[in-house]
Amino acid sequence: MNVTVFGTGYVGLVTGTCLAEMGNAVVCVDVDAGKIERLGRGEIPIYEPGLEELVLANHAAGRLAFTTEAAPAIAHGDVIFIAVGTPPGEDGSADLTHVLAVARTIGQHLGAGSIIVNKSTVPVGTADRVRATIADVLAGRGIAIDFDVVSNPEFLKEGDAVNDCMRPDRIVIGSDSAKAITVLRRLYAPFNRNHDRIVLMDVRSAELTKYAANAMLATKISFMNEMANIAERVGADIEQVRHGIGSDPRIGYHFIYPGAGYGGSCFPKDVQALHRIARAGGYEASLLQAVEQVNEAQKSRLFELICQHFGNDLGGRTIAVWGLAFKPNTDDMREAPSRRLLEQLWQAGARVQAFDPEAREEARQIFGERADLVLCEQAQQALQDADALVVVTEWKAFRSPDFKVLATRLKSAVIFDGRNIYDPLAVEAAGIAYYGIGRGRSV
Ligand code: NAD
Repeated sequence: MNVTVFGTGYVGLVTGTCLAEMGNAVVCVDVDAGKIERLGRGEIPIYEPGLEELVLANHAAGRLAFTTEAAPAIAHGDVIFIAVGTPPGEDGSADLTHVLAVARTIGQHLGAGSIIVNKSTVPVGTADRVRATIADVLAGRGIAIDFDVVSNPEFLKEGDAVNDCMRPDRIVIGSDSAKAITVLRRLYAPFNRNHDRIVLMDVRSAELTKYAANAMLATKISFMNEMANIAERVGADIEQVRHGIGSDPRIGYHFIYPGAGYGGSCFPKDVQALHRIARAGGYEASLLQAVEQVNEAQKSRLFELICQHFGNDLGGRTIAVWGLAFKPNTDDMREAPSRRLLEQLWQAGARVQAFDPEAREEARQIFGERADLVLCEQAQQALQDADALVVVTEWKAFRSPDFKVLATRLKSAVIFDGRNIYDPLAVEAAGIAYYGIGRGRSV
């Protein structure tokens, strides 16, 4: 099938590449000429495990092309995906500028019937706005073309995006057009062989499903962080509590890890946007508001623990930070808890020696050159003469350090474990003080 994808970010590039891998002829369009140029040269602008090999192979095979030129790309697509960003607007609601710009572009160049599939996370009612925008522009051109607008929200996880795209848990299709559903069933058939993962629904329900999924996941994290804060105060260990509640199949073990707060390009903005969507509908979503509040406070938790340990005296200290990305296996630092921590440490007069396996370049872009930040090439290098180690992202490579060696590198032996990846007793046995999240202990 001939497919066009607008947006070559995490969602667009991965979707386009996986569709090309299944034999479709895919054209990816982006307004960022630099990005398109890099992709054309075989340079992948994001880190996503397994993506580079697939992009290079499909590009070389002629099934995956990159362009800034919308007109030929629109003429190419039997199916046209919209996978552009929907960042938070000033009031927290989703900013649809990019989505509606693509709709206008489609309206300007559409020459024959097509199926427009929205993958961006958008407020309920956006498919109607996209449809109306395209229809308006077509009317301005004095032509009428039959087209469908489908909601097909994306559920891939950064860090495992290729795998999620190749083996989706579910493929939500919101449409009332039998023709569009048939075409999308055909397009997704190679991803849907083992059992039927397609969940058909109306457009508005599909749009809300994406927000509901992210809000539920964010709620689980804030709930566990709330429990961790209680555990800390009553001398209980949240890790034991986590095992205790996860064993109930109604609760389960997935996604109940306490930590330094959720970040990334989706949960913070989607919880906020859903809150605004609810308010616009006349409903005050107090649970969502609490989820956001708990998360905001949690992002400062590591800094509070560090201040407490050093008696609020961080001036001139050097803090080693392991992990800058908002989660492992990505270089994405959007809304990452590390960003809040670094700003707080700098404000308190500390220097930071940071290491992340993939996000070093991203951090350089965000923070620029500054005297109080060293972006290290090795994890061990970050420890040299540091007053403390703070683990912010749970990369696998951080999980089993030799604590005895670590103690010799650090100037003062203390670990702040923002993801509870270490056994406090093992750390303390190496003569290192340990602070975790919600790890109050009575002994
Ligand atoms: P991104 O910021 O990584 O990429 C968006 C891309 O769209 C950029 O390359 C940008 O230049 C391009 N773009 C903007 N306007 C354009 C236009 N008019 N024409 C062509 N390209 C244009 O975004 P992302 O992380 O891929 O997210 C895209 C959407 O998918 C968002 O709505 C997001 O909420 C949703 N989503 C993201 C994830 C994720 O894990 N990142 C998962 C599921 C859903």
